[in-house]
Amino acid sequence: MYSLSSVDNSSAQLPIAIIGGGITGLAAAHRLARQGRTVRVFEAAPRLGGNIRTEIVDGWLLEAGPNSFQLTPAAAALLDELGLSAIAASPAAKNRYIVRNGRPVPAPSSPPGFLKSPLFSTAAKIRLFGDLFRRPRQRPVDVGLADFVTSHFGSELVDYGLRPFVSGVYAGDAQKLSTRHSFPSLWEAEQAHGSIIRAQLAGAKAKRARGESTRPSPIVSFADGLEALPRALAARLPAGSVELNARVTGLAPGQPWKLTWSRDDLEPQIETFASVILALPASALASLPIGPMGERPLAGLADVEYPPVSSLFLGYKREQVTHPLDGFGMLVPPAEQRVPLGVLFNSTLFPHRAPEGHVALTVMTGGVLRPDLARLEDAPLLTLVRKDLAELLGVQGDPVFMRRNVWPQAIPQYNLGYERFIDLIARTEAACPGLLIGGHIRDGISMPACLAAGEKLAARATTSNP
Ligand SMILES: Cc1cc2nc3c(=O)[nH]c(=O)nc-3n(C[C@H](O)[C@H](O)[C@H](O)COP(=O)(O)OP(=O)(O)OC[C@H]3O[C@@H](n4cnc5c(N)ncnc54)[C@H](O)[C@@H]3O)c2cc1C
Repeated sequence: MYSLSSVDNSSAQLPIAIIGGGITGLAAAHRLARQGRTVRVFEAAPRLGGNIRTEIVDGWLLEAGPNSFQLTPAAAALLDELGLSAIAASPAAKNRYIVRNGRPVPAPSSPPGFLKSPLFSTAAKIRLFGDLFRRPRQRPVDVGLADFVTSHFGSELVDYGLRPFVSGVYAGDAQKLSTRHSFPSLWEAEQAHGSIIRAQLAGAKAKRARGESTRPSPIVSFADGLEALPRALAARLPAGSVELNARVTGLAPGQPWKLTWSRDDLEPQIETFASVILALPASALASLPIGPMGERPLAGLADVEYPPVSSLFLGYKREQVTHPLDGFGMLVPPAEQRVPLGVLFNSTLFPHRAPEGHVALTVMTGGVLRPDLARLEDAPLLTLVRKDLAELLGVQGDPVFMRRNVWPQAIPQYNLGYERFIDLIARTEAACPGLLIGGHIRDGISMPACLAAGEKLAARATTSNP
């Protein structure tokens, strides 16, 4: 039995439905509400934020998912609007270590630093300059990121620069990731300039001419953790905008759209909307019935690869760790055959992540190359991790605090051939006017990319329903 909410279909502006209360959906809801539109956010979980979840326990502050994000100018403008102050990563976190030959080596952060760095051989350094002589090139087909970067900079840069970076961002396989979809700026740089280095120099020059800063956007969080952002977005929505524990179970396209949602304690509810925004992961999109006969037009998205990732937060007394932890963290190239993908030095990055006299580390394992290491039980995983932490960072003894979060489907892989998923999304939107799909499945996986995706979805919703 269904209950149909009473909505006046003749009213000038029906509300807009947003399915998914992660950062993408909340950013879209915020923008639409600011424009005076009535929004309804449906979130299946008992809380908002999606992948973003902060826990504060006994003086430890830990992030279940993302730990920080890049404060792009657009993200900074949104925080200003929300009256939310970000905290920048500490200058003490400037070093980014990469493990080579069993020890963490600081990654170079400037061209002179690169020439002096022990991370790369002299041959690799000379090979890098070959990039300067490359001519603009239109590749007929997409190419794997590892092959693309090898063709510009050689294989050592791939093994000790690209691959650990890809592990840290995508938990992915640089061989399988599509250059066009995972790093479009590299693809475009080659087309316009040939050389990636010359493209970077030209980009910096153009920025200076426009009076813009050429420094990279700062890495930030909030004093009380990343969840402050979804909380702030939600707090500014009008009362009644959000339904928690509300799983959307079906959509019927039309004008108006009919949306069915359910909650344990309620009979299924039907509401009507001018348009519907889907800000969901691939598995949820794939299984969502969209159509009068329960059709699943996005079923093909079930084939998007989403590897599991385990995030293990470990707390130690300061004296248990001999490494100075003077950096952002340590990335581990697959060639080093270690258990972690990377280790974040949380208590160096931001203040108040560990009680006085203690340090906090987050060890990421799993990903496309070693999914088994995300699925291990706590005890065997800890045994493996302890060995690597002892050898790489001089960590001794048992952690005094531990929390583990496992993401069975962490991050979508924009692998070669990803355009078939993008095309499927675009075709579904075209077949269902009023349906808008975006977020980490389509617009980029980082938090700022998801915030930008929310803004874009809101703009499209108002254009299609002025
Ligand atoms: C372990 C990990 C580490 C990361 N680290 C970083 C980092 O350091 N920096 C960074 O910038 N990014 C990082 N990311 C990426 C970033 O966190 C995500 O891409 C981003 O948070 C995704 O937001 P979203 O709103 O698009 O999706 P989600 O956060 O997945 O939100 C989607 C929401 O939809 C809900 N939902 C699903 N089905 C339904 C339904 N039928 N009805 C209603 N609701 C439904 C879900 O419960 C969920 O809350 C990380 C991600 C992970 C997993």
